[in-house]
Amino acid sequence: NADTAMYHAKEQGRNNIQFFTEALNLAAGERLTVERELRVAIEEGQLAVYYQPQLEAAADPLGYPFAMEALVRWRHPHRGLITAGHFIPIAEESGLIHTIGDWVLNEACRRFREWTHAGIGPRRIAVNLSAHQLRNPALLDTVAAVLQRYELHEDELELEVTESVAMRDPARAVETLQALRNLGVRLAIDDFGTGHSSLAYLKRLPIQTLKLDREFVRDIETDENDAAISAATLALAHELGLRVVAEGIETEGQSRFLRAHGCDLLQGYFYGKPEPAEFWTAHWTEESRKSS
Ligand code: C2E
Ligand code: MG
Ligand code: MG
Ligand code: MG
Repeated sequence: NADTAMYHAKEQGRNNIQFFTEALNLAAGERLTVERELRVAIEEGQLAVYYQPQLEAAADPLGYPFAMEALVRWRHPHRGLITAGHFIPIAEESGLIHTIGDWVLNEACRRFREWTHAGIGPRRIAVNLSAHQLRNPALLDTVAAVLQRYELHEDELELEVTESVAMRDPARAVETLQALRNLGVRLAIDDFGTGHSSLAYLKRLPIQTLKLDREFVRDIETDENDAAISAATLALAHELGLRVVAEGIETEGQSRFLRAHGCDLLQGYFYGKPEPAEFWTAHWTEESRKSS
């Protein structure tokens, strides 16, 4: 299916011209339809932010998650719920990512503050930024405005960017990331291990967190290479003073391996799927009722 082809092309990296062109051709007709529908979706409020917990490995697993990652969803009137992986690439190519990204950032921070005001919820909110957003000169003002609007403290907001962001134009990436860091936000490298950057190179970026990609987590118990890479990444990241979040944890065994190797935060279906804000509000409200 065209959407899937697009997604895989994106995952394989933009250098894979042949594959990408093929996917574009395949998807051309549908892409336009989706783009048109996406504009309507933004105007009519069909987008929603879902939240997935990141649990502190050291903490009581039944306690509050340390952080929540915001993941955008499209409640399509006919196609049902569409996950980010299926429309973010189209949003990026049509330029709609800026409108969508600004909205997600604002909505996630608003919700985070609502939770902390109610005495429930996480200590930190994580929001994804695409390379396109990072190249937008207006981004810094947008982030600064959101921090002020919701009175976010230093380190309450973490922005996740993929390694490819930093690889394309390293000098400019460092400058933008440093400017964001100066505003008081934390920075995470998402999907670490899927690109071709070394950890030594990444350390030149003003980042605090590394997210180990799901690709490595998946076969961590059976594939010796994945196990070795994950263990080495954890050790080196810690040497460099970075926190490590493992993504895509689906089993007890994966969790056990990662905790044994000192992983700081755990994220994945095993601990919680991305759910709407109302789900978490109800869940935490019930928890505090039970414990009081
Ligand atoms: P990501 O930031 O690496 O997010 C992780 C993806 O893996 C999410 O897919 C999430 O739903 C999924 N996931 C989480 N835990 C598990 C698990 O245990 N097993 C499996 N199989 N999957 C899991 P999603 O929501 O489709 O997002 C895909 C990508 O789209 C994200 O990758 C992120 O790069 C991007 N994205 C999502 N929301 C936004 C957004 O608001 N703005 C921007 N710019 N990009 C976004
Ligand atoms: Mg992410
Ligand atoms: Mg990721
Ligand atoms: Mg990923």
